[in-house]
Amino acid sequence: MGENYAFFLPVMMASFGVVFAFVWSLRIRAAGYWSGAFFSVAGGFAVPAGFALLPTPLWGFVADLLFASGFLLFSQALLERWRPNWMLWARVGIWALSLLFCAAAQALDNLPLELAASDFGCFLMIGLPLIAGRDRMGNWSDRILFSAAVLVALDNLIRGSTVPLTLSGGSFLNSDYAFLMQALACVLGLFLALAALAANMLDLLARYRRDALQDPLSGLLNRRGFDEAIAQRTRKQPIRGSLIVCDIDHFKTVNDAHGHALGDRVIVALARILMQFAPADAVTARFGGEEFILFLPDTHAARAAAIANDIRESIAQEVAGQIGLAQPLTASFGLSVVQPGDAAIHEAIARADAALYDAKTRGRNRVCVRRALAVPDEPTASPKSHAQSR
Ligand code: GH3
Ligand code: MG
Ligand code: MG
Repeated sequence: MGENYAFFLPVMMASFGVVFAFVWSLRIRAAGYWSGAFFSVAGGFAVPAGFALLPTPLWGFVADLLFASGFLLFSQALLERWRPNWMLWARVGIWALSLLFCAAAQALDNLPLELAASDFGCFLMIGLPLIAGRDRMGNWSDRILFSAAVLVALDNLIRGSTVPLTLSGGSFLNSDYAFLMQALACVLGLFLALAALAANMLDLLARYRRDALQDPLSGLLNRRGFDEAIAQRTRKQPIRGSLIVCDIDHFKTVNDAHGHALGDRVIVALARILMQFAPADAVTARFGGEEFILFLPDTHAARAAAIANDIRESIAQEVAGQIGLAQPLTASFGLSVVQPGDAAIHEAIARADAALYDAKTRGRNRVCVRRALAVPDEPTASPKSHAQSR
């Protein structure tokens, strides 16, 4: 083995393979491609050790195969972020073509041609995702990853174009080519791996955050998500607006008569109606089992009551039919306005809950409003015709 051989490169690359395999086990799909890519490249860098144990010229092609496969996986990993499977067959074609050239060059005993074919193939495979990703930079981790991939692509392009200059006489491992390849692979491989790891970890954090704040059944925010969305707004300015709480009427009997699965479908249908009627800046959440809440920023009581009533009518008219229920399905609503004297939004929520209680005790399928907890009976906001119909 030549004196230039960097023993630690395969170890370093394989270590990244292990790290990404762990991230992959946390259900980050791209990490599976990163892991495979780093293991493959680790194998490529371990080839001189294999050659020392069992000298045969075939090792050259094994290295070409491992590097090409590693770079195909790098391209898959990058595109998983930016545009999954984009030009997959073109990239597989480049992989096959570069290996074909490598095999032909090896048969002709032409090492410069073999190295150039391998380098250009790798350049094209990691270069193509950059075209797809250039206008899809989501956050800083995307930009760092993009920069790392640009550097790796340039490294391959420049190395492949300068083979005649760097592949001096003597053995391959004693050439400037081998020295530059290993030195740059060490620096750029580290950069690429750390950038990919940062991007994968941010994805993981974003998923945990989403899971923590979102209700999986309805897709709405959960209680924690609601509190956090409100806290974010409060940080910018004092919170003003109206609150609507909504609770399905006699939901227990729906569950008892038709099963929990159908009850779940009711929740999903209702959440869809809430999203349809909620203004774009509203904060909409599933607060508990069959209770929902909407915060309408900068919205006065009359407007909020009109929105609540539209939602109420839509639920009464649509949900039972959508789900295939013979009996009508309705919901009751409580409404309150955030007062300047409220210490926290929870005081307004308590008033909306009290109004909801009023709506339930007055016969359900209606909207009631409470301006202050001390005043128990505010008039219902549902249309009179409807109130009479109950
Ligand atoms: P009311 O009109 O007074 O609100 O009567 P209700 O039966 O709707 O009220 P109650 O609070 O007694 O029952 C709520 C029911 O909601 C009890 C529970 O079985 C059901 N529930 C809570 N969460 C879920 C859920 O995620 N899926 C389903 N299917 N049912 C749920
Ligand atoms: Mg309830
Ligand atoms: Mg209920």
